[in-house]
Amino acid sequence: MKLNIKDTFNKELPADPNKNNTRRKVFEACYSYVTPRVPSNPKLVHVADDVAKLLGLEYDTNSSAFLNVFTGKTVYPKTAPFAMCYGGHQFGHWAGQLGDGRAINLAEIRVNEQHWALQLKGAGATPYSRTADGLAVLRSSIREHLCSEAMHYLGVPTTRSLSLALTGDEVLRDMLYDGNQDYEKGAVVCRVAPSFVRFGNFQILAARKDHKNLKNLADYTIRNFHKDIHSEGKEKYITFFQKVVNASLEMVIHWQRVGFVHGVMNTDNMSILGLTIDYGPYGWLEGYDPNWTPNTTDSQQHRYAYGNQPGVVLWNLVQLANALYPLIEEAKPLEDVLESYQTNFDKKYVEMMSQKLGLAEINSDVEELIENLEQNLQLTETDITIFFRELSSVQKTNTLQEAFQKINKAFYKPLEITESITDTWLIWFSKYIERLQIEKDEDKTRKLKMNEVNPKFVLRNYMSQLAIDAANKGNYKIINELYTVLKRPYHEQPEYAKWYAKRPEWARNKVGCSMLSCSS
Ligand code: AMP
Ligand code: MG
Repeated sequence: MKLNIKDTFNKELPADPNKNNTRRKVFEACYSYVTPRVPSNPKLVHVADDVAKLLGLEYDTNSSAFLNVFTGKTVYPKTAPFAMCYGGHQFGHWAGQLGDGRAINLAEIRVNEQHWALQLKGAGATPYSRTADGLAVLRSSIREHLCSEAMHYLGVPTTRSLSLALTGDEVLRDMLYDGNQDYEKGAVVCRVAPSFVRFGNFQILAARKDHKNLKNLADYTIRNFHKDIHSEGKEKYITFFQKVVNASLEMVIHWQRVGFVHGVMNTDNMSILGLTIDYGPYGWLEGYDPNWTPNTTDSQQHRYAYGNQPGVVLWNLVQLANALYPLIEEAKPLEDVLESYQTNFDKKYVEMMSQKLGLAEINSDVEELIENLEQNLQLTETDITIFFRELSSVQKTNTLQEAFQKINKAFYKPLEITESITDTWLIWFSKYIERLQIEKDEDKTRKLKMNEVNPKFVLRNYMSQLAIDAANKGNYKIINELYTVLKRPYHEQPEYAKWYAKRPEWARNKVGCSMLSCSS
């Protein structure tokens, strides 16, 4: 196995001089060297063939070198693995130094003009592990591996996942934080992204008033990932900030489009490149509910609920603006950029929703139509994925009843559909069908376009859980099947019809399906 190593982070930024793997605060450095822990009996569970191909490793996935390097058993020659130092706001509060507590960056490579950083998650403790063990369990690793790839194929900016492997070691976890500890199978995922730098990498340097390294890190990021920024001085950092704002906005619009709820949008979980990162207690919206969050740690506050995500991105961007301030020393340009977020968000949100509704002509009626729709979707539990997918079958010539019938299977509790709910829906359909009349596309064409933005298959929480339950018994069939289905989320794939279904009742209140903790 040959990797074209092109390290940048550990070549261009200052390292912690202390090479001991002891837990500590690290100052005046962006990372600490650390060697992955050797797993006792590593075994590959799944390799994402497209990611392997992207990295030029498609013929290596069965080799022992692949297994060893991507589980941490051996360190690839002439590389220097490290863990990054970062901080973050957790649930709205500054938490100080966090850092890669269980992520170890192996190396960066260059393949076909593209740059990739390779990172193991769950390969042992680092100086940033604080009180935790640096490990990951099979359950959460399956969730990260499958969801990273599912998101990519949905067209959502995300970190990718090359491989999922068992370490052969057991890991003690208190899954619900209720005092019931148990041993689970340990696992390692190899994540892939152009860079794993987060908002928190900047924040920790700013918090410590290490302006020299703050500038180093900003310059590093611009030099390597924004080659089109040519300005100098303050201008350069303002443009950089604008790009982070745009990318983060793009990301969260996609989340809202597909119904993805991240669950822990702390600033240490915000990628500087606007990639979805750190798949923990995330979940997929099933019944439409802006207040829904899968994360039990957030069950009181709902800070990171579906409907709050766009606002939280802005809040996080404000924290990043504060961190970058020393490089600019002027609040106004940063405030202007932040202000552009709200206006751009409103515009892009309407565009995105119009696409979901199949409306190419955006006029003032559309906003009202969207608002009313969002209210209607909450009248009774209504599956958001099924609703939009079925909506594409509505035709310009349909009667209101016919149109309403088409989305009927999105309702979880048909018995709850009272006359008044039906009437409210019929009013909405009368406006929708009226609105369709001015669309130039024929029904057939509109349907095709709608099906390109309204996925048929998403990684519903219960689907992961079925894959996890089987995998814990040594059966990886469901992992393989879900990976295959989710590669083509917008295609009909009738052979996989069983995965296009509402969440089954058994999963409604089941741990892992509707309730997830950060324990992973
Ligand atoms: P999260 O909110 O899961 O992204 O994690 C917040 C911080 O805790 C990060 O610094 C993680 O690296 C660290 N962390 C989470 N789980 C573990 C673990 N099992 N061992 C060490 N550090 C961890
Ligand atoms: Mg994290």
